[in-house]
Amino acid sequence: MIQDQVYLSLVAPCYNEEMALPQFYADTVKIGESINKPFELVFIDDGSKDATLKILRQMAHNDARIHYISFSRNFGKEAAMLAGLQAARGTYIAVLDADGQDPPSLIPQMLEAVESGEYDCAGTRRINRTGEPPVRSFFARRFYRIMRKITGIDIIDGARDFRLMNRRYMDALLALPERNRFSKGIFPWIGFNTKWFEYENIARTAGGTKWSFWKLAAYSLDGMTAFSSKPIAIVSALGMALFMVALAIIIFIIIRKLAYGDPVAGWASTICIILFCSGIQLFTTGILGQYIAKTYTETKQRPHYIIREAQ
Ligand code: UDP
Ligand code: MG
Repeated sequence: MIQDQVYLSLVAPCYNEEMALPQFYADTVKIGESINKPFELVFIDDGSKDATLKILRQMAHNDARIHYISFSRNFGKEAAMLAGLQAARGTYIAVLDADGQDPPSLIPQMLEAVESGEYDCAGTRRINRTGEPPVRSFFARRFYRIMRKITGIDIIDGARDFRLMNRRYMDALLALPERNRFSKGIFPWIGFNTKWFEYENIARTAGGTKWSFWKLAAYSLDGMTAFSSKPIAIVSALGMALFMVALAIIIFIIIRKLAYGDPVAGWASTICIILFCSGIQLFTTGILGQYIAKTYTETKQRPHYIIREAQ
């Protein structure tokens, strides 16, 4: 069967990408054809609400190299990438965004690096963040710094999900069963040799980013708790330190009471201490809650995604 001979699979998650798809299709097919080996395009419609699925059906109908998987609802990009990788049949597999921000023109070089056998994966990173709001860039940089510190994994600043890998690398990736998939951490965690390709940031060809500032903030907190238990250690240390301070204050108060009696004063400071301590406690409980919630979703063992239709 011809399908067994797929050499390169190009996997693209799509969520409301009707505007970007036609251009993306034209670009990737051109690249696929340029390598002179059988290739396939695997699209994942992540519960889009626009005409994405209609376009994909049409494309798959007209071109046998196109396959698509359509989810029953929006499951998020991580789930979409996972589905695409599981469906990909190529000897080499690349993942790239459908919005034109991951230049397919890099694929031949990336393929060459992995084909050589010296690398198992070719990754890409943006060397600048033009076209992005400065506040977002600022927080993004801090995020990478903190992540590297607390996870101890070399999470590379500006690394994209745009990657090309061999089977060995992909099998390792798919062997991780977790529901809370945080690719930015999973890729470096599995190890192997990765060759990095750098490129200038490219603005989306069409449509808008699916990430609001708050969505990104939630995502970074999620990533930290998904990949490290350091936050628990940090809040325990904080609790310990507060306890020490409280102990010192208690001793001080007892001595003062014994020496000077009890002048009724210090209402403001009492309130401050109560507010401060209850704030810390809530914060700490929240962090613990994050881990419990994660354990909860893992133990339910639900599927990562549900497919409504595929071809
Ligand atoms: N995407 C997806 N599911 C989602 C959100 C995004 O499959 O819930 C896809 C989207 O169609 C795009 C890629 O993931 O191909 C990256 O999304 P986006 O461009 O919004 O993110 P950014 O490039 O701004 O990081
Ligand atoms: Mg994008």
